[in-house]
Amino acid sequence: MTLRFIGSEIYRGSSYGPNHPLRVPRVSTVIDLSRAMGWLPPDVYIPSPRAKPASLATWHDPDYLAVLQRAERDGHVTEAERARHALGTLSNPIYPEVFRRPATAAGGSIMATGLLRDGGVVYNPGGGTHHGLPDRANGFCYLNDPCLAIVAFRRWGFRRIAYVDIDAHHCDGVVHGFGDDPDVLIVSTHEERRWPFTGAVEDRGAGNVWNLPLPRGARDGDMAAARDKLILPLVEGFRADAVILQCGADAVAEDPLSRLALSNNAHWAIVAALRDLSPRLLVLGGGGYNPWSVGRLWTGVWATLSRQEIPARLPEAAENVLRGLEFTGNRLGKNPPDHWFTTLRDSPRNGPVSEVVAARLRQLADRARASV
Ligand SMILES: [Zn+2]
Repeated sequence: MTLRFIGSEIYRGSSYGPNHPLRVPRVSTVIDLSRAMGWLPPDVYIPSPRAKPASLATWHDPDYLAVLQRAERDGHVTEAERARHALGTLSNPIYPEVFRRPATAAGGSIMATGLLRDGGVVYNPGGGTHHGLPDRANGFCYLNDPCLAIVAFRRWGFRRIAYVDIDAHHCDGVVHGFGDDPDVLIVSTHEERRWPFTGAVEDRGAGNVWNLPLPRGARDGDMAAARDKLILPLVEGFRADAVILQCGADAVAEDPLSRLALSNNAHWAIVAALRDLSPRLLVLGGGGYNPWSVGRLWTGVWATLSRQEIPARLPEAAENVLRGLEFTGNRLGKNPPDHWFTTLRDSPRNGPVSEVVAARLRQLADRARASV
């Protein structure tokens, strides 16, 4: 069975700027940690190709792609381009790899669909840019590799796609692209009342859009209920040709951009469950703005996909990778707790399902029963 990790060295040292949340290393940590653990043999790792503009134009506007390429070359955009494409803003700055980096993430997700033709699992932690719009950058995302992957799966003849998104933020770009497509299932858990403020529990799209907004402080028990009562029944019932999981790492308690309180166990349990019921599974990254929590979580995702045992205490080579990280400009970087260096697995944050989550899950289950 196909099992591949798609990475790239373009992410190493790349930064959106010294004050931007995406100044921290992420994919490079996952590569280094996985190698230090002996989990990433050379024949499993594939360097990501950079998608060509023609390939990106299967979902994006060619004029926007031209502006994005020119922005990388010139280092700036005009006022008109800034207004039209949301480029050169605080959220979506012009940085040195502003075209090459997202085009590499997209190239990985597009390539993954071909690797999955005969089934299997592919991990592209540089992907998961779920806010990108056809002609506009949005929420740190310049392109939308999940949408490009859906288009690419279709080109291989795979029609029914299940897209699951457990990032702390709602996947507004993917809903923009495929919320009205009856052959795409979109299931999202995200923090309520947080940017982009879309993803209400009532939204249905063409009938296959399912949102579970999570209240501030949601814990592993809430996510386990979401997994067992919403995500898995929907994905199983949909009988997808392929499943895409956006595994944003910003819903854990240590993340500076959300107020959810999951541990990485919650993510890994969803990864394991989807691994076992998907004929083709593409797992992507997404948000994640604490360099330790995102590196540990996404390395654990790879361990789960590749069925490695996660040791209680990391060997020295892996610990050194984590000790080498910096989180400048954030108080969390001042005195990191020891377990951010010595473990991958967080202590579970179990507890009963909150009443608001239970009520929303009942509401969604009622809707699912009514639509059978
Ligand atoms: Zn996010």
